[in-house]
Amino acid sequence: MILVFLGPPGAGKGTQAQRLAKEKGFVHISTGDLLREAVQKGTPLGKKAKEYMDRGELVPDDLIIALIEEVFPEHGKVIFDGFPRTIKQAETLDEMLKKKGMKVDHVLLFELSDEEIIERLSGRRIDPKTGKVYHIKYNPPPLGVEVIQRDDDKPEVIKNRLKVYREQTAPLIEYYEKKGILRKIDASKPVEEVYKQILEVIGNGT
Ligand code: ADP
Ligand code: AMP
Repeated sequence: MILVFLGPPGAGKGTQAQRLAKEKGFVHISTGDLLREAVQKGTPLGKKAKEYMDRGELVPDDLIIALIEEVFPEHGKVIFDGFPRTIKQAETLDEMLKKKGMKVDHVLLFELSDEEIIERLSGRRIDPKTGKVYHIKYNPPPLGVEVIQRDDDKPEVIKNRLKVYREQTAPLIEYYEKKGILRKIDASKPVEEVYKQILEVIGNGT
């Protein structure tokens, strides 16, 4: 089963994907996580991607597509989280899957108001050792776990990421709606309820 998690930054895609990976055995492919890892290691990709990420812009399609080609699983249960983010990326994903006799089964659209997005992003914290996502108010890290704030979770960058989402990524909603595979998720609900909504879409026994 191939799932795409679509929605604005901070909607809770990574949180839910981490849980589905753990409990249901999905392979979780987050282009954001892969890019941050590349930046941290100082690889050629990381060096190129950093300036875009720091400004809250999208990393160019050719770099993202090359990255996805590297990690593309041959089969199995996969969640693409934060990819595709442009029509070009979505078309490329469809082509890649088609060559392997696969297709996207469900696109889960995480819906959330701008105010809630800003609250979630400004309170988000990460455990750099495990990559686990926390929130200072909604999901505080356990005592002893040292967390950091992402550079792009600062107010000026958040504003630009929302603009970029509306202009470049939101057109994917229509793209997938036309294919009849778009499923809407009310992402404003608590983590547990969002998880239940997802299981309803993909089937409890998945
Ligand atoms: P995304 O991957 O879509 O950018 P994250 O999963 O990183 O979003 O979540 C953004 C922030 O919101 C994190 O701090 C996370 O702990 C918090 N969060 C995620 N889901 C919920 C929820 N349902 N209710 C409250 N806070 C949430
Ligand atoms: P995320 O962790 O999904 O919020 O992504 C963090 C940043 O990585 C984004 O603001 C972009 O700069 C970059 N990024 C992640 N995924 C993509 C993608 N599919 N296409 C372009 N840029 C991406």
